[in-house]
Amino acid sequence: MLKQTIKRGKRPELMWGLGLDDSLAGQIAQGVGPGFHIRNFPADSLPRARELSQEEKPCAAWVPWSVWSALSEQRRQEYRAQENTQRILIQDTGDEPLEMDTVLAEGFLTVVRTPLTRPKVQDAVFRAREVTSMYSDIYRMTEEILLERELLARKTDQLMFLNKILASATESLDPATILLNAKDTLSLVLPVKMVHAAFWTRQQDSGVADVELFLNGKMIPDTESLWVEHLMASAAEMGSGPVNGFNILHTDPARRPEFSLTPKDGKLVTMPLTAAHETFGCLVLLCEPDYRLGRDQVETFRSAVNHLGLALRNALIFKEVKLRADRDGLTRIYNRHSFDERLIYEIKRRRRYNHDLSLLMVDLDHFKQVNDTYGHKAGDMVLRKVGEILTETFRTTDLAARYGGEEFVVLLPHTSEEAAWKLAERIRESIQGCVFRFDGHEFSVTASIGVASVEAGALTRDDDLLIKADKALYKAKNNGRNMVVISRPEGAAQAVTN
Ligand code: GH3
Ligand code: MG
Ligand code: MG
Repeated sequence: MLKQTIKRGKRPELMWGLGLDDSLAGQIAQGVGPGFHIRNFPADSLPRARELSQEEKPCAAWVPWSVWSALSEQRRQEYRAQENTQRILIQDTGDEPLEMDTVLAEGFLTVVRTPLTRPKVQDAVFRAREVTSMYSDIYRMTEEILLERELLARKTDQLMFLNKILASATESLDPATILLNAKDTLSLVLPVKMVHAAFWTRQQDSGVADVELFLNGKMIPDTESLWVEHLMASAAEMGSGPVNGFNILHTDPARRPEFSLTPKDGKLVTMPLTAAHETFGCLVLLCEPDYRLGRDQVETFRSAVNHLGLALRNALIFKEVKLRADRDGLTRIYNRHSFDERLIYEIKRRRRYNHDLSLLMVDLDHFKQVNDTYGHKAGDMVLRKVGEILTETFRTTDLAARYGGEEFVVLLPHTSEEAAWKLAERIRESIQGCVFRFDGHEFSVTASIGVASVEAGALTRDDDLLIKADKALYKAKNNGRNMVVISRPEGAAQAVTN
């Protein structure tokens, strides 16, 4: 700044004369005084591209009409293109006065007539200066408008982004789908490679939390355990409290190359998910490294995650309600209602595709005695454990349900009588092998199991299977309990094992 002032103070401002004769050049020099230096180019060597592109631009250029009108249009255009130089047109007293339109069309804003007296020259310079400062005002305003327009465009983008997040988050009531959609939408603002999430629910009596992890993609076990560790650590940091156990779900189970990415393969962004002032989960995003968001983008991103949080909260509540309707409250395995629905479905499917279908009916032996001896709570504990044994033993296409009280059923599509019998035996042994500890007492229980199957191609009525399994179970009880009995037509020998 200081340097510039000194420079300006010392160096006179540059003006050009284009083809001025000595007399005109003298008049101008006298008129403008010592603050200006006039460089005059003779009419036969007017400045060309080289001079025009020089660093120091003249603040004004004085041109007699006779010189200007003799120039080609192309050269005139070259001079007009010099935005920082105001052109001052000089007309001879004898010349016909030019129309203002012509003057403006030629790119002049000021015309002076000879003789160039001091006031006329100064007035012309003054006007040239005015125009220059007006131009710079317009230039500044244009720049401001452009900036405003850019900001507006950015705000519009952000609104559109929020709108997209909202639309895609409320499209589904399945947390996995919401998270998968969120990955695509968040990628509009951040280069997101993977989106993982952890949700926790604290049990009211103990305060211990159950955590549900949603991983983006099915990974190899080593990579998956790195993510599980990371997510559990994030959950603890965000206030999940002590954890009872966790459950893993996949939002995008198809294997893709990015599913081998570990938490170290990018920048991790962890955001808490909050609803009604309570943090119930967190999002962990794996992003491209070296990427920074502007401050307004961070704000937008935060409110996007807030929207997402609310949608996820609703989806989790919905899932919970649905689970409650499908599942038995004590054992958390399917209830009788789900079983009945599934049985109808499987029987229809069997008729169509003609495969085997088997059913196990499991009833605990002398269970009343367990309650009577150790108490109802001990009985509940046994029922929960049996529920666990059943879910662990079967495939996901099988369906294990609590049919009522201490009675369980297992539906086994594509399973022959022989295979069903083997499974029933395995369950009977698992139950028998379990040692329960309650209130200082140790005890074990046994179960009787009835097996019924329909072979491929056989004709059956819808309730045949249940009736047959129930009859086989009754026989198991009659024959001494703790055994598996396979249903056979009346009169045929019963297969019995224990
Ligand atoms: P059996 O070997 O003939 O099957 O004898 P059992 O005692 O198991 O059969 P019974 O049908 O006489 O008794 C079933 C008992 O199961 C009675 C009931 O108290 C108990 N029970 C049913 N539902 C529950 C439950 O939710 N919790 C507990 N603790 N006990 C239950
Ligand atoms: Mg019983
Ligand atoms: Mg019973």
